[in-house]
Amino acid sequence: MAEEFPFEASGKNLLKWYVKNKRTLPWRSLRDPYAIWVSEILLQQTTVAAVLGRFLPFLEQFPNVEALAAASEEEVLTALQGLGYYRRFRAMKRGAEVVVRDLGGELPNDFDGWKALPGIGDYTAGAIASIALNHPEAAVDGNVVRVMTRLLAISGIHETPAAKRQIGTLVLLMMGKMSPSEFNQALFDLGATICLPANPKCDACPLVPWCRAYHTDRVSFFPQRPPKTKMVDVEVAVLLVRRGTSFLMCRRPFDAKRMPNFRELPEVWLEKEGDAKQALRNLIGEKWGVEVQVGRALLSCKHTITKHRLTCSLYQCESDLEDLEGMEWVSRDELKDAPTSTITKKLLARFEDAS
Ligand code: SF4
Repeated sequence: MAEEFPFEASGKNLLKWYVKNKRTLPWRSLRDPYAIWVSEILLQQTTVAAVLGRFLPFLEQFPNVEALAAASEEEVLTALQGLGYYRRFRAMKRGAEVVVRDLGGELPNDFDGWKALPGIGDYTAGAIASIALNHPEAAVDGNVVRVMTRLLAISGIHETPAAKRQIGTLVLLMMGKMSPSEFNQALFDLGATICLPANPKCDACPLVPWCRAYHTDRVSFFPQRPPKTKMVDVEVAVLLVRRGTSFLMCRRPFDAKRMPNFRELPEVWLEKEGDAKQALRNLIGEKWGVEVQVGRALLSCKHTITKHRLTCSLYQCESDLEDLEGMEWVSRDELKDAPTSTITKKLLARFEDAS
């Protein structure tokens, strides 16, 4: 099926369209692999609109790999606060340390070298190697999977690593001898502006003469989706301990999968309906050997983390607590700049509004 497809003609038309229609983005005018690396990490799981205002200030604060390696993790996370998925930033910072410590400050000069750095998978290595180094590598993200599965009407493909590698070979056939940097960005732009998940603008698409999904009226059929993840409802009990204008907070471990090193109010996840107050008393009692009185629930908020639908309730602690090992008192002012979990931020904002 792929052999019979006019890869060269369709690829050339895509590039012609890109030359006239490319989006103006701040990282597009840069070829510095460090800047492209930063842009690709910021764009992971995040919209272009959200990254636009953060990219250049980040580069100003950390203009090169040495500056990023020398910064503290907290400085990096604070600079990117609000973008979510903080593990990627932590990995980027570790990657900068590897480059400075093990590679003498020289950034990798091919796909394999980039992929060896922490937090860099096939897509990001392919994007950096093609965009910054103009190496013929595919960079297959969800947008590219959508365009290619529609163009070639490929069934049974989800966004798995194996499927992406399969799509990558088709992208390279289409790229041919064209500029890898321009070609991959053309595919990104087509996916972001024309071949949209819902209501694609096929009338304006440079690939429409060859699009198998379009000509068989099956555009909405591709890409095929994996079965939906079942959502799990979870009750979260959160404890508010105050001293003046400060709150008692824990710090998430440095190696936590989610929000490493972020501050948060003490919390307990109750997978089944349970006694939230008792769970909070147990948390403090078991960890610090201190008995506390937990008052009524003050307010609550909803929050979703991957497959977990959380209902988070804030309970006031009615005991006077001294310093507890591993916990810290964080003032309202310090909270403005400190990396803080979203649940804690939401609950404290509501608490302040209600006070
Ligand atoms: Fe996507 Fe429509 Fe273009 Fe096909 S013709 S690639 S479905 S926008």
